[in-house]
Amino acid sequence: MAVENLEDALIDELKDLLHAEKQILKALPKMAKTAENEELAAAFEEHLEQTRGQVERLEQAFELLGKPARAKTCDGMKGIIEEGSKQIKENDSGPTLDAIMIGAAQKVEHYEIASYGTAVAWAQQLGLNDVAELLEETLQEEKDTDEKLTQISQQINPVAEEGEESEAREGAMAR
Ligand code: FE
Ligand code: FE
Repeated sequence: MAVENLEDALIDELKDLLHAEKQILKALPKMAKTAENEELAAAFEEHLEQTRGQVERLEQAFELLGKPARAKTCDGMKGIIEEGSKQIKENDSGPTLDAIMIGAAQKVEHYEIASYGTAVAWAQQLGLNDVAELLEETLQEEKDTDEKLTQISQQINPVAEEGEESEAREGAMAR
């Protein structure tokens, strides 16, 4: 169905976001289990809980718009999550995989920040202030999560760097 106006575009964006959040709900428990760093595991767990609330907010937004909360395949998020799962499969747990997972998770957050940012602007333009406020709450959570991940990466990245250097040294000594 063709999108004919900004309200249609907003509804379309919300369907895309609903599918994106549902994919994230499936990915986060695995990331939390794989994380070696406890703070990172806890951050993934916390964001899982937040994501459940974000799905509820999307459902509320659909209700306010008088539309069924129907998800529509979000290929963008699908690609980001597929790349992340591949990395988890190919690498052993440890600081390097933790650093990689932070990178993958930040791609997810940035995608969400872009999509929610757009949706908030469109809802505001349409005078749908209650919808805009709901989406704004989620947008803030995504931004906070992104910042938290940056903070955690500052303790993980140096360990990941060390890990690989010492492995290389051990390899050199064995030769
Ligand atoms: Fe989210
Ligand atoms: Fe998120």
